[in-house]
Amino acid sequence: MRVFKFGGASVKDADGIRNLHGIIAREVPDKLIMVVSAMGKTTNALEEVLHLRSKGRNFTEKLDSILHFHLSVVDELFERIPQELTVAIETQKKEVQRHLNEKAYDEYALYDTVVSLGELLSTLIIEAYLSQQGIHSLWMDARQLIETDNKHREGAVQWKQTEEKCKRIDEALKVHQCIVTQGFIAASNEGHTTTLGREGSDYSAAILAHVLQAEQLTIWKDVAGVFNADPKYFDDVVKLDYVSFEEAIELAYYGASIIHPRTIQPLQDKDIELCVKSFKNPNDTGTRIGSKKVKRVDYPLYIVQTGQYLITIATRDYAFIVEDHLKHIFSVFARHQVKIDIMQNSAIHFSVAVHNANGRLGALLEELSKSYEVKTNQNLELLTIRHYNNFIMDKLLAGKQILMEQRTRQTYRALYI
Ligand code: ASP
Ligand code: MG
Repeated sequence: MRVFKFGGASVKDADGIRNLHGIIAREVPDKLIMVVSAMGKTTNALEEVLHLRSKGRNFTEKLDSILHFHLSVVDELFERIPQELTVAIETQKKEVQRHLNEKAYDEYALYDTVVSLGELLSTLIIEAYLSQQGIHSLWMDARQLIETDNKHREGAVQWKQTEEKCKRIDEALKVHQCIVTQGFIAASNEGHTTTLGREGSDYSAAILAHVLQAEQLTIWKDVAGVFNADPKYFDDVVKLDYVSFEEAIELAYYGASIIHPRTIQPLQDKDIELCVKSFKNPNDTGTRIGSKKVKRVDYPLYIVQTGQYLITIATRDYAFIVEDHLKHIFSVFARHQVKIDIMQNSAIHFSVAVHNANGRLGALLEELSKSYEVKTNQNLELLTIRHYNNFIMDKLLAGKQILMEQRTRQTYRALYI
């Protein structure tokens, strides 16, 4: 059995869903688990609903427009709309509306309940369409398959329970060719909806591949595979045919946005190959990611992270920065959940580069300033080059003013203006 993951871009409209059907139809009679994201930018739109609600503004119109969009896709796809589909869509919407109208609500719990609507709607529509096209498919609620702890917006997978729950998939596959379920969403032990973090559908697919011991996971994307640099920002890039798990983890860690960083580990653990392929050109080979060691990497791989801050922390009394200070500094970063991208220390300075991903940098700086002299520079870029050479460094760093630099045998990193 194999797992296919389709992201939001691949199912952004009726044509996308027809194209998905074309891809699935080629696989008959192989058994497939399909993990699907919300259509297009639906998750952002649902976040907007929550934002309006938090400001005490009217959110009904926005929610209606999201529903309207989905219904228009349904209209376009079906000559005769299955009644169960209309009812199911309406039921999901009402459920979300009910939660939105409840007064007292933990903001994080409400978030998970509301954004889950995107994946629930996309999968309901897609499964109904596949069925109508003669594919023997079954819709399953991911909240009955993947269990997490109670941490909303970033649930931690409870592997044992998830494995137990996923036995239902094995059963279902005895009668169905293809299971359609949601990426990104899960549920706690008490049955409350949780999510795995934005862009978490890749991870959902990897979780299912892991517990089901799938042969392979294919992530269908709008690019032809994994490139040595982001083709959206650089020309002159090359597609890689094969990448080792280790390299893929490093790349994801350094901010390459090819796949969700947590995706690799569950696959590597069971040696399940990951294919990244283009849904626009399904016959192309794409990139394979697996356990085979790669002796020599032919091209330098590089990633640029923008919007970086350099924070320089110094003791006020010119005391050396020692372990006690570092322990305190790290605890402040941990408390504010600000991830350090690169760090360096000298006698009385400790410098880090971070990005303000969760919006909590201000609070962190305020707290640090109580004990230290703190300076920040913003709008910087952090470049990481794996398997660097002089040629690529010269090319990428021409005209840049470097503020921090680090190199190990494999990896060169520079923070610059
Ligand atoms: N729909 C979710 C998001 O946009 C999850 C995903 O697409 O991976 O973040
Ligand atoms: Mg996505």
